[in-house]
Amino acid sequence: MSPILIIAEHRQGIINPDTFGLLTAGIELSTALDTEAHVAIIGKDPEKLAQDINIAGIHTIHTFSTSLPYNHDIYVQVISSLFDKIHPSSILSLHTSTGTDYCPALASILDMPLLPDAIAINYTDQIEILHEMYSSKLQAKIASPPPAIITVRAGVWPIETTPGNASIEPLNISINEEAINFKVKDYEETPIGDVDISTSDLLLSVGRGIGDESNLELIFSTAEAMGATVSSSRPIVDAGWLPKDRQVGQSGTKVSPSLYLAIGISGAVQHIAGIKNSKVIISINKDPKAPIFDASDYGAVGDLFEILPALLEEFR
Ligand SMILES: Cc1cc2nc3c(=O)[nH]c(=O)nc-3n(C[C@H](O)[C@H](O)[C@H](O)COP(=O)(O)OP(=O)(O)OC[C@H]3O[C@@H](n4cnc5c(N)ncnc54)[C@H](O)[C@@H]3O)c2cc1C
Repeated sequence: MSPILIIAEHRQGIINPDTFGLLTAGIELSTALDTEAHVAIIGKDPEKLAQDINIAGIHTIHTFSTSLPYNHDIYVQVISSLFDKIHPSSILSLHTSTGTDYCPALASILDMPLLPDAIAINYTDQIEILHEMYSSKLQAKIASPPPAIITVRAGVWPIETTPGNASIEPLNISINEEAINFKVKDYEETPIGDVDISTSDLLLSVGRGIGDESNLELIFSTAEAMGATVSSSRPIVDAGWLPKDRQVGQSGTKVSPSLYLAIGISGAVQHIAGIKNSKVIISINKDPKAPIFDASDYGAVGDLFEILPALLEEFR
């Protein structure tokens, strides 16, 4: 079987940490297919970046040097050429804004099926991914014979960093400059807010169960009495009740406090992805079947508007 090809993601000279989970997914698939795991890295100083991801289980790292920041057309041209050279049995990328930008184009050009946003990958006689739908209410199995292009959800696979000794092979590909129609003009950093929830040791996190923005007052009073920092699930940020830097989860911040107190949060997989490294998780939810309880060390089934005032009283 021909190798698995994993496309590493990086920005401004730093490997995206989620790439390491992607590497784990690719190495696992290569083991299931009894083949090699290859990585491609496209960008500035790719040999230096290659050293950062030279971990056990990777056989070869293909590098392509370009001074341009992420460029759709260069990625598509380089990966297509590499495909013609090594005929990978599948291509894996992160399911990020970058991965979801070039993978559909590659799937079209290479005439390969695209299996998007995998949270699990299995191989028997076909490649089968698990894919969540309708805000995680449904899990679909999508299967295809290899080769396929798979985009992998960040934060799902464990990170392995045991050093390896992959050979690093620069690619000699001539880019068709006339076919470059895409250019990133600028990156604008999101302003850093007044708190950094990634370093907080005690988080009181609020979800849609709070019902109304005015009820945040109770949350902030309780957090202050406990010495906790307030964080939230995504709907609270989407509603504009709290700024983005308070959002915990897959598309927010991954946190690792000693104590994570989840108030009125159902426990969607995208939220759990951000709290898995908490030492202790305690949840309050009125629904005894809320999935958050499966991820919690302790739980209280009840109305947050009865439990929180009692908690506040206790801390005062
Ligand atoms: C690509 C993608 C990325 C995403 N990224 C994130 C992310 O980073 N972070 C994130 O959080 N979500 C993320 N989501 C959204 C996620 O799927 C869920 O929709 C979201 O986490 C649900 O938020 P919630 O638990 O606050 O709300 P809900 O799911 O509506 O849950 C509210 C909970 O409150 C409980 N409740 C209601 N009233 C009370 C009460 N009075 N007392 C006690 N409990 C009560 C209910 O029983 C319920 O369990 C993402 C989704 C997608 C598709």
